[in-house]
Amino acid sequence: MEQEYYVCTGCALLCDDIEIEITDKKLSKINNACLKGVARLKECAEPAECKVDGSNVNIDDAIKEAASILKNASNPLIFGMGNSTTSAQKKAIELAKTTNAYIDDTSSFCQGPVIEAILGDRIKTCTLDEVKDYSDVIVYWGADPSNSHPRHLSKYTYFPRGKERQRGWEEDRTAICIDVRKSDTAIICGDKFYQIPPQADEELIDALVAALSGKVPKVSFGMGPKKILELANMLKKAKFGTICVGLGLIYSIPDVEPLVRLMNKLNEVSNFHLIPMVGQYNMRGFDHNLHEETGYINRARFQESDVEHGPQCSIVELLRTKSVDAALIIGSDPMSSLPGTIAKELLDIPVITIDPCVTMTSRKAKVAIASVTSGSECGGTAIRMDGVEVEFKPMIPTDDLSDEEILSRIMEAL
Ligand code: SF4
Repeated sequence: MEQEYYVCTGCALLCDDIEIEITDKKLSKINNACLKGVARLKECAEPAECKVDGSNVNIDDAIKEAASILKNASNPLIFGMGNSTTSAQKKAIELAKTTNAYIDDTSSFCQGPVIEAILGDRIKTCTLDEVKDYSDVIVYWGADPSNSHPRHLSKYTYFPRGKERQRGWEEDRTAICIDVRKSDTAIICGDKFYQIPPQADEELIDALVAALSGKVPKVSFGMGPKKILELANMLKKAKFGTICVGLGLIYSIPDVEPLVRLMNKLNEVSNFHLIPMVGQYNMRGFDHNLHEETGYINRARFQESDVEHGPQCSIVELLRTKSVDAALIIGSDPMSSLPGTIAKELLDIPVITIDPCVTMTSRKAKVAIASVTSGSECGGTAIRMDGVEVEFKPMIPTDDLSDEEILSRIMEAL
């Protein structure tokens, strides 16, 4: 029998070579996935149950209560969706339009500006398959894929052989790491690790732009001009360069402009591409879908036929200014990911969660709705970190409801 392969939804690398075995309707064996993927695909440590005010209810009652909260809210917020399929995300956008809700996702405080610049053609990008086939210089900047996306280096960016990279990593590729600490990825990069102090990324970017422009680069920290020129030279000589941008860099620069400057300069003298190291498997998908609908990737509010957009519509600002009176959180856990001073505002409004697992947010929610895990229990499509659409089928049969089905039922009950 021909081997069937499945897709791992453990991160936005969406590895598509996963082999499984099923015993008693449960995954008994998962091959090729990393430990992070196995943890995602196996059952939650604490599977969610449908609850209203902490008491168990059936899913119909939970959906009815959720619809009533959204219907009665003047300023509802819909947030999350990075772990939902594309069709579920589109349904959430439709629900936001119907309820005149704010809609936002985690990209508004992580990779959003980079994705926006890529979608606006301000930053040149490429696919991971192109990196595998052609990339001779790969820079991991503020990123540690060895831990965040464990198969990134082995499947696409450093170790594999590709069309024009037949001799493998040691001879055919140069891997460079720029980071504030010696991460596992930095160790792999050996003497191509450039350690910088926290918040020094923009200064190094400007020094590199100077070096690539034929000027003597200078920085205020202990990295001499010779070392910066050596780095700039490696970048300049690349036939197909790729920068994999992690949160360490994103959090250190005020906006995306320093990166745009660097990419513009690199593409004057060389050939460089940038890929954002997106975390949740379909966060980029949400940004693409909202962009298609509104022209914005996140931080939006539907108001009849208008769309408001801006920092004031981000989850952080909305909670800080107490501007929302209900929140629907889909596949996300803002109670654990947002600063405590902001997250605590969720305790003052009715919160609805849709999640396969119990989270800090679902524990505090007025309504918790249990959904299936997309990837293992329901199929669909998602956008990989490099913008490529990936289709996946469910691994385990289930009669339980997906995010999309739950959102459809909430829409019907409004
Ligand atoms: Fe899954 Fe990501 Fe690991 Fe690939 S790298 S197996 S997508 S968790």
